[in-house]
Parts: sequence; structure tokens; C-alpha cells
Amino acid sequence: MINGTNGSEAYGPGAILDLFRQGQARTRADLVRLTGLARSTITQRLDALFAAGLLVPDGESASTGGRPPTQFRFNASGGVLLIADIGASHRRIAITDLAGAVLAEEPGELDIAAGPYPVLAQVTTSFETLLATIERAPKDARGIGIAVPGPVEFATGRVVSPPIMTGWDEFNIPGYFAERYDCPTLVDNDVNAMAFGEQRACWPQHHDMLLIKVGTGVGCGIIANDKLYRGAQGAAGDLGHIPYSSEGGPICRCGNIGCFEAYAGGWALIRDLRTLGHQVGSSFDVVRLIRAGQPDAVRLARQAGRVLGQAISYAVSFFNPSLVVIGGRLAHADELLLAGIREVIYRQSLPLATRNLQIMTSQLDERAGVTGLALMLGDHIFAPQAIDHMLEKSGNADDPESTSMVTNDIS
Ligand SMILES: [Zn+2]
Repeated sequence: MINGTNGSEAYGPGAILDLFRQGQARTRADLVRLTGLARSTITQRLDALFAAGLLVPDGESASTGGRPPTQFRFNASGGVLLIADIGASHRRIAITDLAGAVLAEEPGELDIAAGPYPVLAQVTTSFETLLATIERAPKDARGIGIAVPGPVEFATGRVVSPPIMTGWDEFNIPGYFAERYDCPTLVDNDVNAMAFGEQRACWPQHHDMLLIKVGTGVGCGIIANDKLYRGAQGAAGDLGHIPYSSEGGPICRCGNIGCFEAYAGGWALIRDLRTLGHQVGSSFDVVRLIRAGQPDAVRLARQAGRVLGQAISYAVSFFNPSLVVIGGRLAHADELLLAGIREVIYRQSLPLATRNLQIMTSQLDERAGVTGLALMLGDHIFAPQAIDHMLEKSGNADDPESTSMVTNDIS
């Protein structure tokens, strides 16, 4: 491809762009230091990225005596990302810039069991509405990110044998959006999206992390060695359906008996509160009762925390993370749940596994999924290889004189 000598292959225009996206480079001097490329080669790379509208000048850096070198930054406003974080009973639709900053968003209710067509039609309508509010057009979309509350075959974006997503099995979500938008679609499990967003945005110093989502159900996202770990079939982290009790116990949504989720998931708390005569329709109502200090709700939350602590202590002993983040709607109900979780994890996990273990609540909270999807999508669209390929196709890579704008043809 381009100037394939002296190791410069490793720093094609795509790799240079990545240094700006990751905040490692801001000036030509940074690039010389980081890449070892000749200044003339760096100029060529920068020109190609400028011509494609991927980099823009960013003021002047502090002068060190001579002429101040110009700073550059990734052009985050060169398009938008369409994001839908779909849970079992609610959704959060957002439009972000290309760096993942939320420009417009809309939370709301949704019934995943209505099936793919009604749900995705609702998502598409929200995309259009939100795009209109920020005066952007569908053609500005550079990528679509969708999270769903079930296992996903990441390579194809297909939902696989989802326990609670009636009618979604094998549904081709990218295919649905390909008929409507001219950009790539990435699909992942909702808990994976949350784990990715939380680690990347808030805890980059923790390379091995678990994110436990306690919402309607219970799930776990795994970051291993800074990477999302999805497992062989995309079903890694299905903590909620590990049995808590082998005999008896409540029937779970998955059809088995005695899963952790059947004791401590949001839906289990709704079930138990209703049995006790309380009017609860959703996990919002459960949170409301816990916050109000209603004795039954408080007792059940404390109990659920201990049950979850048991499940998480297994995962901690097995995986040895340095951080466990508790997210999802119930995580922020009260300290009760977290206290129960902490108590059991520290008592039951191996001492070596908990010596430096931190257990925190999610910092991004309701936005963890949206942020994770946008960052994941950015990595996908702006992967160095994808950018090099795009620039080669457009003829910009080797031609610093070219001023032609690159279109969105990178899927
Ligand atoms: Zn189950």
C-alpha cells in the first residue's frame, strides 16, 4: 500500500487518525515522536485525512519559542451515530457525534416481546424525530448501534435463542437497517454495551472488569485485558441464569427453576411485592418503594443484594477482576442492594481475589449502554484498516493535492 518502508506500513493514515481519536497525538511533533515517520510522510498522511474530512485544525498549541505548531483533532462533527439501547421494558434512543457525545436522546417504555418489526419501527421513528431536532438528515448517519437484552452473534448481528425476546430468534437486525440507511449497523447485547462504555469512559485504568446489570433481569458484561469478552456463542456472562438453589425455588423466565434472577432480578421483586399486596407495574415502581423506605421493599432489596452477592462472588473467584461495577435501574435504588452485594462478595470470595477489588455503582448510569455502543461503533467505523481501505478507494491516500470529499462508503 503506501510507502511500505521503514515500518511506516504500521502507521498508514488510519493508524494516524487513531492516535488523534485516542487522544495520544495533537500535533505533528507528537506524530514524529510516536511513529518515527519522516515529516514529509506525516504531512502526506495528514493531508489525506484532511481531504477526507476526518481531521480538522484545532487552534494553536502553546509556543515553545519558534512558530507554534498547529494542533489537530478528530472531526467528531463530520457525521452522527444513531444509537438504540433496547432493554426488556424500556429503551434509550440517542444521536451522538462521531466521538460518542450525546447530541439528542429520548428515553421511553418499550415491550421487547412485541417482536422485531414493531420495536424496530419505533426505534426508526425515534431516530427520525431526534435527527430533525438537531437539524441533521438520515444521510448524515455514519453508523447505527443497537443493543438488545439477549445473546447476539456479534459477527452477523443476529439475535440467538433469546430467552425473553419472543419472535426475535435469528432476526437480522443489520439487514433491517440496511434497507433504510446507507451505513453499517452493529448489534450487541445490552450488558456488553454497558460494560464497554463504563470501562472506556470511566475506568480505563481497570483492565479486567465485570459490569453487573440489575434491571428487569440480571446480566454480566466482561472486560478481559481491556477487551470485551463475548464467549464462543456470544452468551458469556449469563450470570442471572446460574442456579442459586438446586431444589425447589421459583420458576425463572428462562424455564428453569431457581436461577439467581428468579430470586433477585427486578421482575422477581415485582412478583414478590405483588404477592404481598403492593401495586407495582415495573422496576420503576420497585425503586420508588425502596426509596420511600417501604418495609417489604427494603427487606426484599436487602435479600436480593445478598443473593446477587453470592452470584457475583462466584464470578469474582473465577475471573479475578480488579473492579466490579453494579449498574441497571435497581443499582441506584438505594445503598441497601450494594451493601448486601459487598458483604457477601468479601465474605465468600477468595482473599487473593478481593485484596484489591473495588465494587462501585455505575458512573454513566442510564447512559452506559448508549455511550458503550457509540464508542464501540466508532472503533468499528474508524478502525485503521477500514480508513486505509476507504482512502485508497477514494484515491486520497497517496494524493495530497486531492480535495475530493470522501463519502460514507466504508461499510
Ligand atoms: Zn433462568
